[in-house]
Amino acid sequence: MPKKPLVSVVCPCYNEELMLPLYYETMRERVLTRLTDYDFELILINDGSKDQTLKILRELAKADERVKYISFSRNFGKEAAMYAGLQHAKGDFVCVMDCDLQDPPELIEEMLAKLSAEDCDCVATRRVTRKGEPKIRSAFARAFYRIINRISDTEFVDGARDFRMMRRCVADAVLSLGEYHRFSKGIFMWVGFDTVWLEYENVERAAGETKWSFWKLMCYAIEGIVSFSTAPLQLATAVGGVVSAMALVYMLIRVFIALIWGNPVAGYPSLLSIMLFLGGFVLLALGIIGEYVARTYMQVKRRPIYIQKESNIQS
Ligand code: UDP
Ligand code: MG
Repeated sequence: MPKKPLVSVVCPCYNEELMLPLYYETMRERVLTRLTDYDFELILINDGSKDQTLKILRELAKADERVKYISFSRNFGKEAAMYAGLQHAKGDFVCVMDCDLQDPPELIEEMLAKLSAEDCDCVATRRVTRKGEPKIRSAFARAFYRIINRISDTEFVDGARDFRMMRRCVADAVLSLGEYHRFSKGIFMWVGFDTVWLEYENVERAAGETKWSFWKLMCYAIEGIVSFSTAPLQLATAVGGVVSAMALVYMLIRVFIALIWGNPVAGYPSLLSIMLFLGGFVLLALGIIGEYVARTYMQVKRRPIYIQKESNIQS
């Protein structure tokens, strides 16, 4: 009998004690036992959880040899967890998904069918609605996609999830990017390959709560912009040019007025506001440069993206 293709399902978990048993059961029922044409391995990454996540992972791994787990020494973030999962995935197809069932496991069948039948390398998903999400969060998300698509060469798809299934070659390409600050939504687009998009309605988390505060999401958005565009660095040049031109015109006007009407003393409020504006802008520009310098600094230190404390995967 020919060997079945292996599918690795990578899933980062952070404080998911409520979700994990539910996730595993759902996957077993709807994917592992149903899709008999494939072999599966579930790679679950414990991203430094403070609850019983690791204990549950050990139990799941003991009961089912398809369950592989990696446990980090602390919380390194979802991006690091996905990277670790991809590194350890041995599958011909590799899938990345969240364990809160917001990424419907039923889609895996369709993804595999598309990858096997069509001439594509990756099947990605995007949610077409943001139902159940706070309005302000949706508004900021939309603004983010508008801005980043204008200033970056990489295309970002609004509503794209990290939930995707890729061929081995795509996973290898993603792994070849060894950057410390990882922004997967951008990395997946940057590596290219033929991608087919599946659309679905937003599903709310089955249990537990989101790990993303508004502040964390803002930082994530800045991460995306700084990782995939250098346009903010040109902002200082642009504004500097405009302000210099305006200053020159203003100077000429003042000279002209002084020659015709003498030199009345100009008030200090205008001077103060211009100084404050320029001072503020110089600090902003320094801050922007700082963001890039900080990332360069972190990158040249070449710290590992994550530290593994425990695993049942033999390398
Ligand atoms: N996650 C993680 N590390 C973190 C935060 C989140 O591994 O520091 C995992 C989490 O367990 C979940 C996935 O990333 O499987 C998505 O997180 P969440 O559902 O909180 O995000 P949302 O769906 O609200 O964007
Ligand atoms: Mg979620």
